[in-house]
Amino acid sequence: MNTKNSKSFVDDFMAYAKSKDPGQPEFHQAVHEVVESLADYLLDNPRYLHAKILERLIEPERIIQFRVPWTDDRGNININRGFRVEMNSAIGPYKGGLRFHPTVNQSILKFLAFEQVLKNSLTSLPMGGGKGGSDFDPKNKSDNEVMRFCQSFMTELSRHIGQYTDVPAGDIGVGGREIGFLFGQYKRLRNEFTGVLTGKGVEWGGSLIRPEATGYGAVYFAEEMMKTRGESFKGKTVAISGSGNVAQFACEKVLELGGKVVTLSDSSGSIHDPDGIDTEKLSYVMELKNAHRGRIKEYAEKYGVPYLKGQRPWSIKCDVALPCATENEINLEEAKTLITNGCFVVAEGANMPSNEEAVHLFLATKILYGPGKAANAGGVAVSGLEMTQNSMRLAWSREEVDTKLHSIMKNIHEMCVKYGSESSDFTNYVKGANIGGFVKVANSMMAQGLV
Ligand code: NDP
Repeated sequence: MNTKNSKSFVDDFMAYAKSKDPGQPEFHQAVHEVVESLADYLLDNPRYLHAKILERLIEPERIIQFRVPWTDDRGNININRGFRVEMNSAIGPYKGGLRFHPTVNQSILKFLAFEQVLKNSLTSLPMGGGKGGSDFDPKNKSDNEVMRFCQSFMTELSRHIGQYTDVPAGDIGVGGREIGFLFGQYKRLRNEFTGVLTGKGVEWGGSLIRPEATGYGAVYFAEEMMKTRGESFKGKTVAISGSGNVAQFACEKVLELGGKVVTLSDSSGSIHDPDGIDTEKLSYVMELKNAHRGRIKEYAEKYGVPYLKGQRPWSIKCDVALPCATENEINLEEAKTLITNGCFVVAEGANMPSNEEAVHLFLATKILYGPGKAANAGGVAVSGLEMTQNSMRLAWSREEVDTKLHSIMKNIHEMCVKYGSESSDFTNYVKGANIGGFVKVANSMMAQGLV
């Protein structure tokens, strides 16, 4: 095996992965990126090959799929599909979010769970990897409908999770409201108040800074990358996609650090505010999206700025791009446009927002490119800190949690540099994050025998 060159190693492995799970393109995309950057390292360290660590890593320890029946406000019966992918528990209980979105399927959840394993390892906290969710669409549903759905979903999920087993959190379509309904139903069914979910409200076991953590963390990571070139956010023009949890708090932190955010988006289109989204406008976005569940188009109408219907924001000139919406939202053409326009930093708040060709271009042009599993690890890191606080039955202050988050993001950056540094002035953060995340999980799997 170790005599093969890395290209044929990657090709052989991908042929194996695809033959096992045909029809899972997102999962293959995520595996391919990891295997590509691990190949040389594995060929130099054949003990991992002999132990078939890679083959074991892409095989979920368990996948649960279940029926979620619920009634809407008119009394109609609806049937959705629920999932939990318990990917890897070598370094801790399964940990990863729940996504409620009509596109949810096994391929998407396996890609997210696979990424989560390496991401959680990078945080240095004891968390394995998992992901779950449903093809349920919370859009245009009443609070009561969302509650009935969450209660039905948790009625089955509660059999499979627990504070020492599997601790879900939020993701797309699952915010504070949904976590509340899910937690309430778990507590009722099990008659216990435990840290079984993270992202809880602060009055009932949540951690301060958890809502902010992914967005803040992505900006802290971008800041660390920029420091390596003597740069900072001060005076930089920043394009952000999305307008949900991650995008909102990424925007907040960029403003704090002196940057100018000129775009936000949702699945219907993008706004371009050349004067910059200030704190007052950001408060409006938070109110619009979180309280009224409105559309970003309304921002353009209120402030009289251009609305790019059906478009992503990457045609807008910027120094820094923070994709914070969803997977595969930067393709090769968009990556080229960003670079031509002078963008030199891409830090991914979302999971796998850049497609493979875009990633290759970012690496080839040697811009500062921070992949999601490193750049957006702040969310799960603070979820880990929420678990710690729940176990200790005490709560840390905002400053304490933010300081810990900041230092975790700096450590992740250092880990990426350690494994991904290719010359005195270039770090391949993809390689760094993948090897850095892999080593701890792989060694733990080796130590625990063939399980
Ligand atoms: P939210 O549901 O709060 O927001 C998602 C945002 O992305 C919305 O603006 C939504 O627009 C947009 N969006 C969703 N799907 C699409 C699509 N198919 N095309 C275009 N836009 C889309 O989710 P989060 O902010 O929590 O998550 C955003 C990303 O960050 C995801 O990739 C998630 O996996 C990742 N992430 C989140 C973490 C967290 O702590 N929340 C942690 C780590 C990663 P619309 O309202 O129109 O649907």
